Amino acid sequence: MAVLIAPKPPADIAVRDFKMLIDGEWVAAASGRMLERIAPGHGVPVSRYPEGSHIDAEHAIAAAKQSFDTGIWNSKTGAERSNILLKIADMIEKRAEELSFWDAVEAGKPISQVRGEIAGAVDIWRYAAALARDLHGESYNTLGDGTLGVVLREAIGVVSMITPWNFPFLIISQKLPFALAAGCSCVVKPSEMTSASTLILGEILTEAGVPAGVVNIITGTGAGAGALLSTHADVDMVSFTGSTGVGRLIMANAAQTLKKVSLELGGKNPQIVFPDADLDAFIDAAVFGAYFNAGECCNAGSRLILHKDIADDVISRIIDLTKKVRLGDPLDPQTQVGAIISQQHLEKIKTYISGAKADGAALSAGGGTVDFDSGQYMELTLLSGVTPDMAVAREEVFGPVLSVLTFETAEEAIHIANSIDYGLSASVWSRDFDTCLTVGRKVRSGTIWMNTFMDGASELPFGGYKQSGQGRELGRHAVEDYTETKTLNMHIGSRKTLWVRGGSAAEE
Ligand code: NAD
Repeated sequence: MAVLIAPKPPADIAVRDFKMLIDGEWVAAASGRMLERIAPGHGVPVSRYPEGSHIDAEHAIAAAKQSFDTGIWNSKTGAERSNILLKIADMIEKRAEELSFWDAVEAGKPISQVRGEIAGAVDIWRYAAALARDLHGESYNTLGDGTLGVVLREAIGVVSMITPWNFPFLIISQKLPFALAAGCSCVVKPSEMTSASTLILGEILTEAGVPAGVVNIITGTGAGAGALLSTHADVDMVSFTGSTGVGRLIMANAAQTLKKVSLELGGKNPQIVFPDADLDAFIDAAVFGAYFNAGECCNAGSRLILHKDIADDVISRIIDLTKKVRLGDPLDPQTQVGAIISQQHLEKIKTYISGAKADGAALSAGGGTVDFDSGQYMELTLLSGVTPDMAVAREEVFGPVLSVLTFETAEEAIHIANSIDYGLSASVWSRDFDTCLTVGRKVRSGTIWMNTFMDGASELPFGGYKQSGQGRELGRHAVEDYTETKTLNMHIGSRKTLWVRGGSAAEE
């Protein structure tokens, strides 16, 4: 078991009431109703939000559409947009501690970890600011003397953004700066469990000079506030991060008006380990990969695929290291693993563990809850003897549960890795570069790490194969995803008439 740090509810916390941002105004929901958030790590209420509905969503979409049509943002130069994005990055940096506090209490995440996420978000805003000045199309001067072809990149229009609870500030920062760099207007709906940091971002955007209506933020549930964002005819694109089930629904809804859809969905990410790997480095990456963010991470390395010759040794070393992980109070700077997002989600994790045991897996560590006086916490759990057909090997548990499978040949490891519906990320561990490249090229995932895990950079695209999603965030692709392509086909000189020569077609 881990080193436990009992949660202490923040003594001086007053429940904060937030409002939504629509057309530059901070407003309540049309219904006047509010939702309350109980901190999952402390069991006390911390915030209240307007419970938006389709009426509020309609207003937000209208404001975004109007701001797009007037060109108040998309007619600015790239340099002007870039300067505002840089200002936003500086202001996020200044308010980093406040943003970290809210993500830590609302999501139950360790505060030290969130500080790193906010710093990562600042870097993304700065990177997107650079792209705002460098967004360009192509020209074709090779089409003959009479033709010049120019391919423009134009902002796609109104983009709706729907985000989950597990990385509230980081995930909106993987979308919004790129859409703003491209010149889009946006309607954002954060998770109903973790809206605070996104609303604080709204204050920052306003202060930094993003014009009214360009970014609108509505709060509430998916069914209440979110549904219209994938059906409304004035929304040109939906950018969604969340579960594969809701992603499927969004895509089906968007099909009615043929909107562009970008989806960042679930994962069941394998770490494939060969006997010649640097096992010291890997053991650390295995524990980090599985239990970072309490396993509530699309990128969690929740499936270890170990060569059978090293499996017993690796399992016992992982269990040893797990005992040193500090688990508990999200607000204690020493904490490495925090709370589980909700009681309902904790029950779902427990069901996966009991299901795995019933299927024949062995519980090698953890498996139960950690009963502090407040909040909901889960033991760091390791299941060995897992086989590729078991639900726990194929489905996203989204909790601190590591499944261990074994292989004998590289082909078998690749087959196991590819045998599920997800394809978000994977890693290969071997000192032989041929092994890394051969396996890495055959595993069907959007990211392949070699001898590392969960590293990232603003420049590197991120997204999924198969049912882990479509489209890419980060990197150049991100800004291009928020554009339409327009062809200018220009004729130079007098145009030779070919079809109707001198007179009407009937005379020809
Ligand atoms: P979720 O799908 O339940 O909810 C995500 C968002 O969608 C929330 O804001 C929710 O209110 C909204 N929503 C729900 N129903 C909706 C509807 N009918 N119409 C419009 N919006 C709706 O996901 P979650 O539980 O918040 O997050 C966990 C999931 O997110 C996991 O599956 C995880 O893998 C995935 N995720 C993926 C990535 C990635 O980049 N691939 C990153 C983080 C999380």
